[in-house]
Amino acid sequence: MPELPEAENIGRALSKFLPGRSVCRVEVFSPAMREPLTPLLTARLEGLTITDVRRRGRYLVCGLSDGRAFLMHFGMSGVVRVEPPGTPKRKHEHLFIHLSDGMIFKFECTRRFSLFKVCSIDRATGWPPELAGLGVEPLDAMFDGEFLWKASRRRSGCVKNFIMDNSVVVGIGNIYATETLFAAGISPERVAGALTRPECDRLVREAKRILLRSIEMGGSTISDFLNVDGSEGKFARELLIYGKRGGVCPVCGSAIKIVRLGGRSSFYCPKCQK
Ligand SMILES: [Zn+2]
Repeated sequence: MPELPEAENIGRALSKFLPGRSVCRVEVFSPAMREPLTPLLTARLEGLTITDVRRRGRYLVCGLSDGRAFLMHFGMSGVVRVEPPGTPKRKHEHLFIHLSDGMIFKFECTRRFSLFKVCSIDRATGWPPELAGLGVEPLDAMFDGEFLWKASRRRSGCVKNFIMDNSVVVGIGNIYATETLFAAGISPERVAGALTRPECDRLVREAKRILLRSIEMGGSTISDFLNVDGSEGKFARELLIYGKRGGVCPVCGSAIKIVRLGGRSSFYCPKCQK
């Protein structure tokens, strides 16, 4: 599932292809995604220029010259491509946007949890109203140990679910929460409100380091994620504990344990993570 580093890479790639191009024509092949795609056909998009591509959490926002924007989220299996005309249409490509330079922006989603819609931009925040309520960006300076320590006070849930809570900090999904907790030496089952200030510092430092490294490596290809150019993210090779069912801790050699938290498998080393 695309997480923050994957969304960042898709955004960076699209920044090379979309800004300055205008929309010539919109084709919807199969309207059912998280919200129907059919409103795109009547949204009066033809002739509008795409101004920029920005990321917020796992969302991408492509500004339009009339002040509106395209809002995208890749769900479990969303893939976008920019291809020349004549490339055969794939089965699960639901949306084509024909661009003024002849290229075609294509949105593919096999499991239909992705989002693509036209939205307004809230002048006060500079972001679509749909994104109100999102927490801080993990790579922003304001996400620091002090912030995490304050936000975690009186939180009785486990730390893994806490750092995956998008109203606290955005874009840290299961893969990066698992790797961050391992690197910080903190058990995923610890009560968030019981974290010490030094532990919060470690969590923040490791979250930033791992996210930045993953962005640099092009993200993690776990199942469906592909970059815009079709290349696979290479960070999956560097995952130390996520997905290592039946494996051993790369630090101490203990058997990796799995616990279900928030409906997700959480991998951890019972010896290294306290
Ligand atoms: Zn260990």
